[in-house]
Amino acid sequence: MVSAPKLLKEALTTLFKRPVTIQYPFERRPLDPEFRGKISVDLEACTGCGMCARDCPAGAIKMVFFPKAKRRVPVIDFSRCYFCYQCVETCPWEAIKTSTFFELATVDKASLTVKYGEEEVKPVKPRPPKRRPFFR
Ligand code: SF4
Ligand code: SF4
Repeated sequence: MVSAPKLLKEALTTLFKRPVTIQYPFERRPLDPEFRGKISVDLEACTGCGMCARDCPAGAIKMVFFPKAKRRVPVIDFSRCYFCYQCVETCPWEAIKTSTFFELATVDKASLTVKYGEEEVKPVKPRPPKRRPFFR
């Protein structure tokens, strides 16, 4: 057990030290550029191939068909995503964009699934991939 004088000494020294913690969210530390945050799908670049959904180890991506545009779109459920970026590696059309945004906490789990309106999803134009797909 730590003695009372030792505790008092520790408390007094700590009073004059710079705090280790910061006043988040009012203060923020810079994030590493490699930090893996929220991803998003560039619907114009995406061809709806479904490879991201196939490779997602968390089952966080579902391909949803939009009848008006006659195409599929990957819909991400961020309550399942753990930011491994496998989908980013996989996508041959480089349609999955990365970011360092991480503040996703919410009490409404349903809001963590990305929703697209019919008007947002345009028909897809066939084009060659930008790079070879990543295979595990
Ligand atoms: S892998 Fe890329 S192009 Fe294919 S569905 Fe996913 S985001 Fe779209
Ligand atoms: S970052 Fe990983 S867990 Fe999240 S959607 Fe992509 S593949 Fe799935």
